Amino acid sequence: MILGGTVEARDLAARLAAKGADAVTSLAGRATRPAYPGKVRVGGFGGAAGLRDYLATEGVAVVVDATHPFAAVMSPNAAVVCAELGVEYLRLERPEWRPAVGDDWRDAASLEEAAEMLPLASRAFLAVGAQSLPPFLRRTDAALIVRSIVRPDGGEHPNITMVEAKGPFTVEGERALFQAHRVEVIVAKNAGGRAADAKLVAARELGLPVIMVRRPAGQPAADAATPEAIMVRLQPHL
Ligand code: NAP
Repeated sequence: MILGGTVEARDLAARLAAKGADAVTSLAGRATRPAYPGKVRVGGFGGAAGLRDYLATEGVAVVVDATHPFAAVMSPNAAVVCAELGVEYLRLERPEWRPAVGDDWRDAASLEEAAEMLPLASRAFLAVGAQSLPPFLRRTDAALIVRSIVRPDGGEHPNITMVEAKGPFTVEGERALFQAHRVEVIVAKNAGGRAADAKLVAARELGLPVIMVRRPAGQPAADAATPEAIMVRLQPHL
C-alpha cells in the first residue's frame, strides 16, 4: 500500500501498475484529484487502531509512506503500526529545499513562529495550504494573500485575499502574482520538490524575503528520496 498525497506517490503508483503489482494507493481525500493509476482507497483509517485493522484485514505486506513531509500524524502512525504488525515500512521523502545565492530565507520552526515573524503591517503571501492558515489569522495588522487548492475555514476574514489555484506553477506566473498583489514577504513550508519551487525562484528574482517553515520534528527517517529508489527496495515483493 502506498500512502499518497504527493507527486512521488502518483509516480510510484504508475510504476507499480505498469509492473502489474498488487498495489493500492491510500488518499486522505481532502483534495480533488485527477484519475489515479492503479487501485485507490480514500479517507482516513480512523487513527492508528483503524490502520492496524486495515493492514491486517487486507494482508498488506509493505507500506510505502509517500505522504507529504508535513503529514505529521499519518507518517508516525504508519511507522508505529507497521512495526507492531511486522509489516515492512518504507518512507519515500523528497529532499528539502536549500537556499541558493541571492535568497533571503528566514528559518521558522513552526507555522506559529512564522506567523509571529511577519513584519508589522506587511503584505504576506501564504503558500502553506488551507489547513495551516489558523496561526496567521491572529495577524490582523498584516494583509494575507492566501493561495490554496480549497477555500479554507477563515478564508472570509477581512484581511485575507484568496487565490484558489493548484500547482505546478511557473516562475513567470509567480512573479506576476507577487507583483499584482504587491507582496512583501512569502511564507512557505519546506516541502521540497519541483511542483512548488517556482515561488522561491520568483522571490529570489524580486528580492523578496521568504519565511521558510522547517519540516515537523518526529517524522520517520526517509528510506529513499525518489520513486526509482523505492522500486529497487520493492524488488523482492514484485
Ligand atoms: P496528517 O495531519 O498527517 O493527517 C491527518 C489525518 O488524515 C490522518 O490522521 C489520517 O486520518 C488522514 N490521512 C492523511 N494521509 C492519509 C492517507 N494518505 N490515506 C488515508 N488517510 C490519510 O496529514 P495532512 O497534513 O492532513 O495531509 C493529508 C494528506 O494530504 C496526505 O496524504 C498528504 O500527503 C497530503 N498533503 C499534505 C500537505 C501538507 O502540507 N500537510 C500538502 C500536500 C499534500 P486517520 O487518522 O483517520 O487515519
